[in-house]
This record gives sequence, structure tokens and C-alpha cells, in this order.
Amino acid sequence: MPPTGTIFDIKKYAIHDGPGIRTTVFFKGCPLDCWWCHNPESRHTGVERIEVRSRIHGADREIVKEEIIGREVTIKEVMTEVLKDVIFYDQSGGGVTFSGGEPLHQIDFLTALLQACKDHHIHTAVDTSGCAPPEDFARINGLVDLYLYDLKLMDEQIHVKLTGASNQLILENLSILAQHDLDIQVRVPLIPGITDTEENLDAILAYLDRLNKVNEVCLLPYNVLGENKRRKFNLPQRLEPRQTQSKDMLEVCAGRFRARGYLVHVGG
Ligand code: SF4
Repeated sequence: MPPTGTIFDIKKYAIHDGPGIRTTVFFKGCPLDCWWCHNPESRHTGVERIEVRSRIHGADREIVKEEIIGREVTIKEVMTEVLKDVIFYDQSGGGVTFSGGEPLHQIDFLTALLQACKDHHIHTAVDTSGCAPPEDFARINGLVDLYLYDLKLMDEQIHVKLTGASNQLILENLSILAQHDLDIQVRVPLIPGITDTEENLDAILAYLDRLNKVNEVCLLPYNVLGENKRRKFNLPQRLEPRQTQSKDMLEVCAGRFRARGYLVHVGG
């Protein structure tokens, strides 16, 4: 019996989740709990029923609506959507990206989907937090054309505080992947005053220099939508509201990596 999985969205014509035009499948479930998470609906693995509160314009009262987050799907259902856009993947050098949440959190489902894409000669990317058992990465390495690998914070204690887990496993997994000559783009979500500091970016640079295998970096400007979504889902706001980085600030961050020979993308 092929595995089923829980997803919360399938985004068509995505252009920031890897090369070309892509379909991005968002898995539910993530082992981390980042304070800035811009996909809080992905945190829990199962289908959720939540109350969404919104204020009626001009009235002094709220309405409460129930929303179902996520759905259980079969491989066939996901592939039916994916296969509708093969012509766009072929013309643009695109494909499918599995994101989340953490796609490796549903490893059987992910493996089966990657295999199905390979059977149809579709380019595959996996957008990962890196927080998964090394043996799960070993299961899928042969089926993944590109890893989009998040590095957030190099200081372990701050990582624990702001994401709920140590960064050791994440760094170890990246070192192992790098030894296997896989195609890897490191993605750094730039959280103002937290991950976009000189100190943190220099520590990421020093780590990548030591690996000496990854030469492509993507800097992701702060996404304020996360704050709105947390409000919508009645989740605690653990960070003070922040602004997206200015163009100048993004250029300074990108310049640090370019100066050391990295190919840098800003914004996916
Ligand atoms: S790793 Fe990504 S999906 Fe998981 S909590 Fe952090 S920001 Fe959210």
C-alpha cells in the first residue's frame, strides 16, 4: 500500500523554490519551533481544526470561523497535480520542490513522491531545515537533484532558544551531504537583529568555507507575513514586530558572501 501524507498546500508556478517554474508541495509537521516561522500552519503533523478570529470592519466585535488546516493525500493525488505542469518544467528548467514544515518528517511519503517524480524524469528539490536523522537523508539522496538547505543560527545556545533545538544535527547532516557531492544551495532566512547580524553571517561563512563544497547561497529577506499568520492562528508573538531588510542592508549581507566567492541569490 503506497504511503499517504499530510500536506497543507500545493503552490503552482513557484519561482522562488529552486530553478525554473516549479510546483511546491508543502508538508505538515516540523521538529523545529522557530520564533519567526512564516508557515505556522505547518508545525503540527496532522490535519488541524482551528478557530480563526477576525474583527468586523467598523463594528466592535469579532467573528470566529473554524478552518481546517491540511489534508491527507495519496501519492497519486499529488502526482496528478504535479504532472499537469510538466510542459512548464520542461520549458523553464523547473520541477517539483518539497517544502514545509520539514518534508523529511514524513520520510516514507517523501521518498515515494521523489521516486514518482524520478519515474517521470521531473527535477526534484527538497527544502529542508536539516533537522532529521542522517539515515533519512541517506534514503533520499539518490532521488534529490537539489537540496535547499536552511542554516539559521550558528550559536548553539541561541539556536536552542529561538528554534527549540540544537543546531548540531543540522550542521552534521550538511557536512555529510557535502561529502557526497550533492547539489546544495544553502538558504539563510534573514531575521532582523537575529540571523542577519555580522557575527552570525560571518560564522555561517566560516563554516561553509571549512566545508569547501557548497558555493551557492540564497538570502531570504524577512517575511512579515509570518506575524500576520501567527495573529490569525492565535499563536503567541514571541518576536517584536520587525521590518523587512532594506535593499541596502540586503546588498551588504550579500556582499559578505560574494566577496568570498559564493554565488548569491537574494529572495529565493
Ligand atoms: S524550520 Fe521552517 S517550518 Fe519549521 S518552524 Fe522553522 S521556519 Fe517554521
